[in-house]
Amino acid sequence: MPQVRVYNLGYDPGTGIGELLHTTTVRHAMGMIRREVAVPVELTVVDERIVPLALELTRELSGAWVEGAGRRSVGFSYRAVHERDHWTCAYCGRSVSRAPACEALLATVDHILPVSRGGRSSWTNLVSACKGCNNRKADRTPAEAGMPLRFAPYDPAVSYRVGGHVEDLPVLLGA
Ligand SMILES: [Zn+2]
Repeated sequence: MPQVRVYNLGYDPGTGIGELLHTTTVRHAMGMIRREVAVPVELTVVDERIVPLALELTRELSGAWVEGAGRRSVGFSYRAVHERDHWTCAYCGRSVSRAPACEALLATVDHILPVSRGGRSSWTNLVSACKGCNNRKADRTPAEAGMPLRFAPYDPAVSYRVGGHVEDLPVLLGA
């Protein structure tokens, strides 16, 4: 049996232009068609059976969709920043919380480039920080404060598209 190519929504069978996500087995492909998460866009005949050669997802796959298992986009909020950073201070690496054992570990969101210097509230300018580090950093950049970031902030949706977690797809689709 051939491997079936799975394309993101927007595949053009005429030109073959589309975003190839991964390949899968015919058996898995048939399951995706039954669950209506994909439609066949190319078919062939094997042993007198019609089988798909290529599928197109019925809804666009984005990183947000993968991570949220059904949500189309990750809503931007301070809470979402903490979740992305696993409630970990980007400067000292300690766990932060909304009800910490000591006040220094209170979860705050730090503007890497401070607002007072033109920093914006965006995925890539915000990180989780404990109150202690946030106060110490104050209106300085990480370099000025001598407080390097332990991890780089990223935009969840964009990161998926660039980095890819296509291996998660069969799991999410219930393969
Ligand atoms: Zn900290």
